[in-house]
Amino acid sequence: MEVVITIMLVIGAAGLLVQAVVGLGFFVSCIWEKERRASVFAGLQFLGMSAFLIVYLLLMWIGFFRTGLGLAILISGYVLAVSAAIVLLRRSAPNLQALQGTRGLIAGEVKRQDERTHVFARNRSLRPGSEQFAAFYREHPEYEEYDARRREAGGPLGHFGTIDSPHEGPNVAATLASGAIPMYLGTPEKVKPEPHFLMKGKRVNLTPEEATERIKGYVQNRGADLVGITELNPLWVYSHRGEIFYENWEDWGREIKVEHKYAVVFAMEMSFDMVGTGPHTPTAIESMGNYAKGAYIATQLASFIANLGHSAAASHFRHYEALMVPLAVDAGLGELGRLGYLVTKELGPRVRLGVVTTDLPLIPDKPVDIGVQDFCRICKKCAVCCPSNSIPVEKNQTVVNGLRRWKLNDETCFEYWGKIGTDCNVCMRVCPWSHARTFPHRIILELITRNKSARRIFSIMDDIFYGKRPKVKAIPKWARFKPGKPVWEH
Ligand code: SF4
Ligand code: SF4
Repeated sequence: MEVVITIMLVIGAAGLLVQAVVGLGFFVSCIWEKERRASVFAGLQFLGMSAFLIVYLLLMWIGFFRTGLGLAILISGYVLAVSAAIVLLRRSAPNLQALQGTRGLIAGEVKRQDERTHVFARNRSLRPGSEQFAAFYREHPEYEEYDARRREAGGPLGHFGTIDSPHEGPNVAATLASGAIPMYLGTPEKVKPEPHFLMKGKRVNLTPEEATERIKGYVQNRGADLVGITELNPLWVYSHRGEIFYENWEDWGREIKVEHKYAVVFAMEMSFDMVGTGPHTPTAIESMGNYAKGAYIATQLASFIANLGHSAAASHFRHYEALMVPLAVDAGLGELGRLGYLVTKELGPRVRLGVVTTDLPLIPDKPVDIGVQDFCRICKKCAVCCPSNSIPVEKNQTVVNGLRRWKLNDETCFEYWGKIGTDCNVCMRVCPWSHARTFPHRIILELITRNKSARRIFSIMDDIFYGKRPKVKAIPKWARFKPGKPVWEH
């Protein structure tokens, strides 16, 4: 019996020590994240855990756990610890809906989206007084009054950096510069490239396995952080072209044919520090920089596939033919979150996406269940923090255009972008899945992706440590627009 108690005491001490070390790790992580509130709470938590360990060691030293009461407390502690481990570590039943990707979200007739009706196409492409402008509003009078009001109020464009006015200059300059190269990558010959003349008329023989390995390796080698492949569901291809950047107006309204069987989808990480400044101007530099990366990678990948002797088309922010988020879900990169973006296990929603569709035979990936939809049901932080109330707060998804989801109001979101002159990113900043991937956050992620109880516990803990409305973070020194005043108060 004595030996058993000694073993129990040593294991107990080791367990409490590990707990204190993890607590210390979380404290260090919060300081590294520059999270003042979380650092205070994590510090208190670490002190509490350390005090608990010291008291335990003292009681052990004086032989308390060998008395009747002490033994009862020791056994209760064990029961509690083992129960907590079972509750938190066991794998919850899978979400079969998530494992079907977007097919699991379809609950009615889904119509392919006409890009002409998209808020970007209506506001960035259509020019008042043009033939296309008149034709569009004749066909879609439902948008006319709303768009006219927005135009009268100054329109959504041309107010870059307003929120930081009058200090916005350098960051607006950097945002526009970040978009300089991709402006040249949306032309028809770039998005659907011909093979290089040295490869013309040839086809490189690759098995689907070999092609998949090479394509994924190439995309990651070019700078993508995540890559997946899906068979292309035609529902996620726009029905007609709507955004025009190169005066090729004959393309406006052209029906988009679904020519390819596969889509390669990839994601680039957005910097934790820069997204942390949303909705202010540094976050727009980061968004634009990642749109540019997406265009750069997609253009090269389409060219690579063309050189292999197959057809490929790049979708990026200067030429979209496909909808990125549903394809990313089907390619197994993550799940659709309440905020309307893809939420990945590796980087949360802190990503920008690119797509290349192709007829090159590839091996598709499978959609994943990482617990995002369940987490979003309880969390709602993005909806609570959204400055334009564009994200639904209802617990459950609703069916919009045949698809069960939390439908972001992209009209009011875009209107807010117009008002502040950046692409906001507040929802991305506050999402608990967006935290920097430090060791403690990785442990939490492992728990929440497999276990329902962990999702509930850590959603509450996120509110306690980071606040229900997390503050804007200090921005990198080089992007500060007012030296000495690193953080804005809201
Ligand atoms: S980007 Fe901003 S305005 Fe748009 S949904 Fe997210 S938080 Fe709301
Ligand atoms: S903030 Fe919460 S509700 Fe919104 S997407 Fe992230 S996890 Fe889901």
